[in-house]
Amino acid sequence: MKVIVCKVHGFCAGVSRALSLAKMQLTKGEGLSILGPLVHNEEVGKKLEEKDAQIFSKDEKDFAKSLLSAPKDVPLLFSAHGHDPYLDTLAKERGLTILDGTCPFVRKNNEKMDAYIKEGYSVLYIGEKGHAECEAALKRSPHIYLYQKGNIPLLPKLALVAQTTASESLIEEAKKELKEKGMTYIGNPSACPPTRERREAILNLPSSCDFLLVLGSKKSKNSRALLELGLQNHPERKGALISNLSELKTLPLQEVKCLALTSGASTPESFFEEVLSYLRSF
Ligand code: SF4
Repeated sequence: MKVIVCKVHGFCAGVSRALSLAKMQLTKGEGLSILGPLVHNEEVGKKLEEKDAQIFSKDEKDFAKSLLSAPKDVPLLFSAHGHDPYLDTLAKERGLTILDGTCPFVRKNNEKMDAYIKEGYSVLYIGEKGHAECEAALKRSPHIYLYQKGNIPLLPKLALVAQTTASESLIEEAKKELKEKGMTYIGNPSACPPTRERREAILNLPSSCDFLLVLGSKKSKNSRALLELGLQNHPERKGALISNLSELKTLPLQEVKCLALTSGASTPESFFEEVLSYLRSF
């Protein structure tokens, strides 16, 4: 079996940065509170907890309530997805030391939205309802509206911004709908560069690749999206999303001639290496 290693894999820059902040704090031995799962990967979360991190709002709900119950004498780390600005106020009021893991690409989007609103624009945000990044963005201002197909509010001055992991197809769908309605807008949204590179690597796979293996948690939207992307337009290609070696060993790979291997942005490189060495000995 031939194995193609997709060009981009392992943690993305934003996840690496947030994890480094966590690890640096944990090596001090003073404890760490984390608001929300730092990454959408259960194994990584477990390892942080083994090192004494306390993770609050694992279900990404009730952040304010969790923040109010977090210990006062332990620094609090916000995840890479960004957060409701009100949580900063709450944390300051409680006297908590804040470590901000917000990814620079998410921060850039936030700054862009703030600037548009200051100039009198409303923002149409192309994102996934319920995702932490999207929910945090919507909390920034009442002038930010989530794009919902067939339900775009009529706004005179409109700017477009997309979640850093928004798919190209969703962005194009929003633009098309705006065009059909004769609505003009400013802004040229796209996914963040690490997400785009990962997707491009999958889109550039040869059609002879008959199996796509994505490493990541089933809870990771970007991992699921990579698998979908790799299988669409390739009816003959099979694929799987796995999060541990036991799952790998149950896959029917005997007939596979060419397998491509990639991983979601929240999957550790160590797991990638482990799977790769197993596949090479297959
Ligand atoms: S996917 Fe992109 S925006 Fe999100 S954390 Fe990674 S680098 Fe940052």
